[in-house]
Amino acid sequence: MEWAEEALEMILAFDKDGSITYANAAAREKLEYGDALTGRQIGEIFPATFRSPGAAGLASYSFDRATRQLLAYRQNKTCFPVEARMIALKADKRLENGCSFCYLCMANDILEREHLSREIEQVREEAKQAAKVKSEFVANVTHELRTPVNGILGNVRELPREGLSDSVRRSLDLVERCCGDMNKIINNILDFSKLEAGKFTLEPRRFSFRRMLDYVKANHSSKITEKGIGFFMSVSPKIPEYIIGDELRIVQILNNLLSNALKFTAVGKVTVEVLKTAQVGERMELYFIVSDTGIGIDAADKEKLFQSFSQVDASISRKYGGTGLGLNICKQLVELMGGRIEVESRKNQGSTFSFSIWVGLSEEEQNQENPTAGIRTDAGVRTDSRHSSFGGGEADSIKTYGTPENREQLERMLSKLILCVEMENWEKAELFMETVRQLTEGAPSEVKRWALRLKMAIQKADYEKISDTFEKLKQSLGERSEEGKGTAK
Ligand code: ADP
Repeated sequence: MEWAEEALEMILAFDKDGSITYANAAAREKLEYGDALTGRQIGEIFPATFRSPGAAGLASYSFDRATRQLLAYRQNKTCFPVEARMIALKADKRLENGCSFCYLCMANDILEREHLSREIEQVREEAKQAAKVKSEFVANVTHELRTPVNGILGNVRELPREGLSDSVRRSLDLVERCCGDMNKIINNILDFSKLEAGKFTLEPRRFSFRRMLDYVKANHSSKITEKGIGFFMSVSPKIPEYIIGDELRIVQILNNLLSNALKFTAVGKVTVEVLKTAQVGERMELYFIVSDTGIGIDAADKEKLFQSFSQVDASISRKYGGTGLGLNICKQLVELMGGRIEVESRKNQGSTFSFSIWVGLSEEEQNQENPTAGIRTDAGVRTDSRHSSFGGGEADSIKTYGTPENREQLERMLSKLILCVEMENWEKAELFMETVRQLTEGAPSEVKRWALRLKMAIQKADYEKISDTFEKLKQSLGERSEEGKGTAK
């Protein structure tokens, strides 16, 4: 019984007459018998359980493998509670010393376990306290930092600029910008410590969703102009004008994703797409997709992204700056809003961050049809940035079947659609399907026919039909684009 000797719980083996033939080290020590335990009656250890000695005593106990709370008696007749399981073996087992046994008792000292769990609880409590003290310290320090930074900022802004040389004016602008950056870092650290301490509460209220997006866009307009990259934003017409949510925090998530997208993109475009993906009563799920054509992220580094203070590598912080807190805060905020944040990326090709959140609908909006329904490129539906290098024409070329922009968008929508099907997110799949249908509105009848069949298969959640019609649709799209190439030659 080598295995039993090392066990932390007490193990006793006894024969059909109740005589103990083996006791492991834990049992010998805890029951304080030492080696004198073998040969004793099991009834001496559990007198309340086996009232009479020998086989008669054993007969009164049901060896059904159930765990029971019993009293175990030490040699000095003091007792302690144990959680014990007794089993009857199918056949006698012979020990090395020649004795045999046919019953096994395994028992744990409850008091010891309770004491241990009390100790664990205490350690946990102490760790919680330490974390609380640390968060409070961080919160205090950052508050203290904010006062002088705002002092500098306020004073620099008050300084009269007239009559100053260009270089002094540039220096003052730089001081102002640095203070702004410092404030952003302080706010990030404050949010992070509040989130970590579980002290963060959302403040939902009714607000205009599209006005919020305009505000987000305006926040980045100078950067977009400065970098000369394209910026494109589209909002599903199914999202009502007013929603209930924590506007400030939604803005914060979008601002962070957009400033990263702009920071890490030198050429190409940044796009923001917002879809309504589900509605349950007066709650609605919104799905945001922020894509860029920037430096991208290695698959191996994706795991690290949402951890606090994590940047992909040290050269990133040297070249682009940042604290590595932004995405962690985004993740925590998104989760507080009942959603998830994910990233898809390819090195040197770009990244797509997507997140979902649950927001509320006010009573007026719950039953109201959105006046901007349908995929039209009017201001309420699709907002082309004034800074866009694609200009207002891109929306039209996306809508026009057969253009490269339309093909690219179709491909993206189809791959998202099939992903949703694989994840059995039918509601989201239907949404992507609706966009596919609208993108193929001007397509030849064969493409439209397959799009319609795919739509019907999705509505029925018929997986086999979906994969069949999906392939057919892709094939007909492929054939058409090949034909297009042919005629262009
Ligand atoms: P930081 O404030 O340092 O930008 P974040 O948490 O927002 O912190 O981002 C962490 C790291 O994730 C960045 O330093 C960068 O390495 C990577 N990252 C985030 N967004 C992108 C993106 N759009 N493209 C490439 N890398 C990104």
